[in-house]
Amino acid sequence: MERVFNFSAGPAMIAQSVLEKARDELVCYPGRGMSVMEMSHRSSMYVDIFNETKALLKKLMNVPDEYEILFMQGGATLQFSGVPLNLMVNGKADYVDSGNFAHLAAEEARRYGEVNIVASSRDDNYVYVPDIDQIQWNADADYAYITTNHTIYGTRYTRIPDTGNVPLVADASSNILSEELDVSKFGVIFAGAQKNIGPAGLCVMIIRKDLMGKQNALCPKLMNWALQSKNDSMLNTPNTYGIYMAKLGFEWLDSLGGVKAIYEQNVYKAGLLYDYIDNSALFTAPAKKECRSLMNVTFVTGDADKDAAFVKYAAANGLVNLKGHRSVGGMRASIYNAMPVEGVQKLIEVMKAFEKENA
Ligand SMILES: *Cc1c(COP(=O)(O)O)cnc(C)c1O
Repeated sequence: MERVFNFSAGPAMIAQSVLEKARDELVCYPGRGMSVMEMSHRSSMYVDIFNETKALLKKLMNVPDEYEILFMQGGATLQFSGVPLNLMVNGKADYVDSGNFAHLAAEEARRYGEVNIVASSRDDNYVYVPDIDQIQWNADADYAYITTNHTIYGTRYTRIPDTGNVPLVADASSNILSEELDVSKFGVIFAGAQKNIGPAGLCVMIIRKDLMGKQNALCPKLMNWALQSKNDSMLNTPNTYGIYMAKLGFEWLDSLGGVKAIYEQNVYKAGLLYDYIDNSALFTAPAKKECRSLMNVTFVTGDADKDAAFVKYAAANGLVNLKGHRSVGGMRASIYNAMPVEGVQKLIEVMKAFEKENA
């Protein structure tokens, strides 16, 4: 069977060459006589893979030496608890409620201390990111929290706020490695792998080293960043195969020219789609123009039956998982790094054909 263009929000498409390399090495990793899945995480053959993965991420994101890279389990969501458990020294944090995942993170943090919602677009169905110039950050907060890209609503921050001495924590699950991020502006960046890195079950973390070691006494060992750092993410058995897949993904991105090169392609891809939608008589994009996501493009016809008909029509044409998140409806095309330009071009063709038939 031919591969489809998969517009799923996550788990999402992985570059075909990455999957083929994984297939070629699945049963017998070159020179090692066994699958990566069968390697002891303590063996030098696996530690080599682990170290290369870490070095590649450091290179791709230009991670300064003052930062640690961790590979954790529990997805991005476990860090909704991990962040307050590791950083809430004085029991106070600022959150921007700019999407459902931001909302969930703030709700979880409330279990550990005082959460101040310093800005919110919740009452407007999260169709925009609150104006960061209007935000009054609290100077005595333990940290300030944002979500750099909103997977469900198709919005993103186009600038990173300056929170002064208060460390900025970012959930970058759905746009990590899609555009350049100045890591030095952040205290912590974390991202679930299943959107722009590889398979689910892995959370990549970049943490400023001086922020580690302040965890709540009840912080579970496995969520203790300082302890994980001391043990190089191997306090227990890590997601060994997921980390290996991330390595293949990082190598692929590096071979394309890294984040700068893929960003240009992402701007081009998203631009094609938004241009078509903006000129369409049938489809409109609900997200405000100035904060449109490059990764998740949301669109609607304004008629739920027509939306459903389009999703079906697209699937019949080899374009799958275009249904919007259950909380917002409509359509969503997730076009992460691994979505080829041809996938977006095909989507536009199919949208045009549907529009013609439904004029
Ligand atoms: C997908 C996603 C999550 C949840 O990730 P899990 O790995 O399922 O925990 C959190 N935040 C954002 C921004 C996401 O896109």
